[in-house]
Amino acid sequence: MQKIIGHLIDGTLVSSDSSRTQPVFDPATGAIRAQVALADASTVGAAIASAEQAFPAWRNTPALKRARIMARFRVLLEEQADVIAALITAEHGKVLSDAHGELQRGIENVEYASYAPELLKGEHARNVGPGIDSWSEFQALGVTAGITPFNFPAMVPLWMWPMAVVCGNTFVLKPSERAPSSTLYIARLALEAGLPPGVLNVVNGDREAVETLLHDPRVRAVSFVGSTPVAEHIYAEGCRAGKRVQALGGAKNHAVIMPDADIAQAVHALMGAAYGSCGERCMAVPLAVCVGDQVADALIAGLKEEIAAMHVGPGSDNTCDMGPLVTRQHLDKVRGYVDQGVAEGATLLVDGRTLTVPGHEEGYFIGPCLFDHVRPGMTIYQEEIFGPVLGIVRVNTLAEAMQLIDAHEYGNGTCIFTRDGEAARHFTDHIQVGMVGVNVPLPVPVAYHSFGGWKRSLFGDLHAYGPDAVRFYTKRKTITQRWPSAGVREGSVFSFPSSRT
Ligand code: NAD
Repeated sequence: MQKIIGHLIDGTLVSSDSSRTQPVFDPATGAIRAQVALADASTVGAAIASAEQAFPAWRNTPALKRARIMARFRVLLEEQADVIAALITAEHGKVLSDAHGELQRGIENVEYASYAPELLKGEHARNVGPGIDSWSEFQALGVTAGITPFNFPAMVPLWMWPMAVVCGNTFVLKPSERAPSSTLYIARLALEAGLPPGVLNVVNGDREAVETLLHDPRVRAVSFVGSTPVAEHIYAEGCRAGKRVQALGGAKNHAVIMPDADIAQAVHALMGAAYGSCGERCMAVPLAVCVGDQVADALIAGLKEEIAAMHVGPGSDNTCDMGPLVTRQHLDKVRGYVDQGVAEGATLLVDGRTLTVPGHEEGYFIGPCLFDHVRPGMTIYQEEIFGPVLGIVRVNTLAEAMQLIDAHEYGNGTCIFTRDGEAARHFTDHIQVGMVGVNVPLPVPVAYHSFGGWKRSLFGDLHAYGPDAVRFYTKRKTITQRWPSAGVREGSVFSFPSSRT
């Protein structure tokens, strides 16, 4: 009898009330670890009802009390970090140190959420007119929802619901069905920290659960992170249903390597950015745009040396640099992209397609791949591969590099490697991308900034977490107030009130 991963509704684990399930694999062995329940519309409806019922009391709970729960939750996350990291690795495949890294980034978001009383103070202006005061306050929306991808099962949900709930909302989370266990475990820790039942509900599921969340009128706002076609659909449908929506999508991030760059530093930075987490990061760098052939040749020499020293194997083995891909289906897709790169004329310098890991022959492993002479128009240039495939693109000038980046449909992250401050400033000033690094390959903003790409990497106006999350999960109300002095009566005024009167 296989273990069933169920839902968390109204503070209780619901094992499964649905006949539909899907296997959850261990990517390092290909074995089925468990079955995840796929919630039907009535199960999602029960989660929404629980969140709706919990809302009035939670909205009126002082922000400081809500924040204290987050502070306790943060301590529990730190204490349970090893358990959570092991769950991430077991279902996603990434190496343990990387799993700890994503969890730590998630914890930083919980820490930021615990500043809620300060973030929600609002704005006040005294005497905006004779005896009149005015203030703006940020009120909770009600039931909010989040839909998250497989590649950061701990961090991305923590981008969303801690900020939503400290702002006074209740939440229904729909994690990825491919890596559900760490997300559910973390949600249970939040209850242990004191989050009342119903404030956070977790429903596992697939498209049916998502469509129910999108169309239920009790859900006021939806945060989504995942691939661009789904993000675009969620944004359009959610807006049509009258909800506030932010939908973060896919990416194809370019690194520019200038002739004056420290090549050794660029090589090390690119190794982690291209092959870390087996390339399954929306901020991964799959394209290195080299300004000049000399730069390209030097970079390739350094990369080949580093790749030869890489250790690929199960994520639970601390000596490994890179684990497997998430599923067999995704492995086939990534291999297919490498085949296509060869067919379209790029030069495959390092071929990871045939790699096998002794003792893990059924695991979803692929070795690092390196292409030279990748050009716009090739499928491996245009599309997000989400695997350990790095392509070298050769250009002659920074302007040419920037034109390529700006012309690409995605605009999530980019970076430049240079010692020239003027070039770096020109790049950061003009490039059409939302998150930019200078000698920093993964410019993922810290928790007290917000995260978001441009172009088809984000649909919506507000970015994820940080200050934008306070705006996303609240609605502004502005109150203008006068208490007339006793006995003072004014006549009727027919002109529009202004500072002239
Ligand atoms: P995905 O789009 O397949 O799935 C994301 C979520 O949407 C999951 O919960 C899934 O169940 C649901 N879903 C999938 N298909 C759906 C459909 N047709 N209708 C409704 N819901 C659906 O993404 P993934 O493969 O889990 O994650 C990888 C993708 O996420 C990559 O494209 C990556 O770039 C992107 N990503 C983006 C960011 C960012 O911040 N921009 C961060 C992490 C991942």
